[in-house]
Amino acid sequence: MLLVIPVPVRDDLRALEGYHSPQVDVRVRLNTNESPMGPPAEWRDEFAAELSRVSWHRYPDRAATELRGAIAALHGVSPRQVFAANGSNEVLQTLLLTYAGPGRTVATFEPTYQLHAHIARLTGATVVETDRRPDFTLDPETAVDVIERHRPMVALLCSPNNPTGLVEPESTVRAVLRAVPGLLVVDEAYGQFAPWSALGLVGDDAPLVVTRTFSKTWSMAGARLGYLVGPTWLVAELDKVVLPYHLDAAKQIGGRLALRFVDDMEARVKTIVTERERIVAALDRLPVDHVPSGANFVLFRPTGIPGRSVWQGLLERSVLVRDCSSWPRLDDCLRVTVGTADENDVFITALQEVLA
Ligand SMILES: *Cc1c(COP(=O)(O)O)cnc(C)c1O
Repeated sequence: MLLVIPVPVRDDLRALEGYHSPQVDVRVRLNTNESPMGPPAEWRDEFAAELSRVSWHRYPDRAATELRGAIAALHGVSPRQVFAANGSNEVLQTLLLTYAGPGRTVATFEPTYQLHAHIARLTGATVVETDRRPDFTLDPETAVDVIERHRPMVALLCSPNNPTGLVEPESTVRAVLRAVPGLLVVDEAYGQFAPWSALGLVGDDAPLVVTRTFSKTWSMAGARLGYLVGPTWLVAELDKVVLPYHLDAAKQIGGRLALRFVDDMEARVKTIVTERERIVAALDRLPVDHVPSGANFVLFRPTGIPGRSVWQGLLERSVLVRDCSSWPRLDDCLRVTVGTADENDVFITALQEVLA
């Protein structure tokens, strides 16, 4: 028998673990912060019609001109301030390939989106993780102090923050932006649910980018499309780093057409916020602590019973939520995504039973 010795990976990757989001076959899936509703039927029809006219033997428009133009129009910026990629994860990866890497430092404020530190490490950068307060808010003075000591080339904030749901106050974002010697990235994957956006602070005179995604409010997680709005000088650099033709023709069409349905999207956001408040009201009547959410999910911690057993009890009732109970700084915490009214009813009833 041939003995195959695995080829060793890069030394700096050996200790890394991959990103996991376990999927289980259940009736009610509330674990990945997707939209509970699909895109509008008209979007499907228009998408199918345009797909049938694509010249599939040709490479797509490398600059994604029409898509970029449509995103720029949505936010009232120049298309040269927009960079789109395969999910905002690829946007983050391209940013970190361009501005992080070996010998450079990236700052994160934990707990936050796990992929921020993970992707930064994949580029070979040194990651400085700073703890938030026990209530998951960020002390701006601590943040500024860490930045002054470590001089990161990239600082990452997430607002509303995943997995806590907390919206970062504008004053904190401004304080970090003033202090950071490099770039500030504000991940607004859930920005549509929040009362304010850092998009208003973006311009050629500020080292700030805001990332957004079609995966959540736009009901298009299956399409893998995200983007950032930032300074034109930064977008020009990212265009050099990303692979040519990274955005396929179908995705460019799907994203451009989705932006014709802003009203539908805003109506969905409203429905989800109403449902979120209904879930929060139910949590208020149960033995759990929860974090104020400005997103489409709620982080909660059962009191007096391990989070893991509650997760298991919900699973036995065919309800899947995100088990954060073993994540650093999130002991016993679970995160529930807001679903349809029916799904949320099933979740609330199941949680009441488990905690009874
Ligand atoms: C879901 C999520 C993303 C989304 O990534 P896509 O690659 O666009 O699907 C990015 N950032 C945060 C914080 C998220 O929760």
